[in-house]
Amino acid sequence: MAVVEKGPQRTCVACRQTKDKKQLVRYVVAPDGAVLVDYRQRLPGRGAYTCIATQCLLDAVKKNSFQRCFKGRYRSVDPVALTQQLIMAVEHKISSLIGMSRKSGQFIAGSNSVIAALKKESSFALIIIATDISVAIGRKIETLALRGDIYIAHLYDKQKIGQLLGKEERSVIAVQTGLLADSLLNELHMYRQLVREN
Ligand SMILES: [Zn+2]
Repeated sequence: MAVVEKGPQRTCVACRQTKDKKQLVRYVVAPDGAVLVDYRQRLPGRGAYTCIATQCLLDAVKKNSFQRCFKGRYRSVDPVALTQQLIMAVEHKISSLIGMSRKSGQFIAGSNSVIAALKKESSFALIIIATDISVAIGRKIETLALRGDIYIAHLYDKQKIGQLLGKEERSVIAVQTGLLADSLLNELHMYRQLVREN
């Protein structure tokens, strides 16, 4: 059996679970002493990590874990603001991945095109349905997607989806199976978890 190569490991300051660094959220201290989300894990300085779960973030605050990690430079932490930052960071990542799928051509957008594609044999990993899609069309797409075992996310409005694709309003986008879709699925799972918890 092939050995799966592990990336750098870090420990969640709240639940003490050790995971691949990429599966955790990194935090740093800003010059003013406030704790910030470093979603891309690129900011300089000492970092603290938690799981991507609001509960671990809140526990870290409750147990003063950030204070312990950052010692002298730490001044304050606002769990509500941090959660908000985290959600925004995930949303931003999703937007940029959709932008990348547009460049790679690994997607179909628009309800008619997506419905036609879903009816044929197709290899989509996920679909994103606008929150303001008409109920009937939304249901039709969901039924087809469920039949094909395709992940469904309800995110953004029609205008936003169109904008991400550099087009007019689009009510749905379907992304083909591949590495890009895998990354998107990863972020969509996180997003769902974070939004559901709040
Ligand atoms: Zn944790």
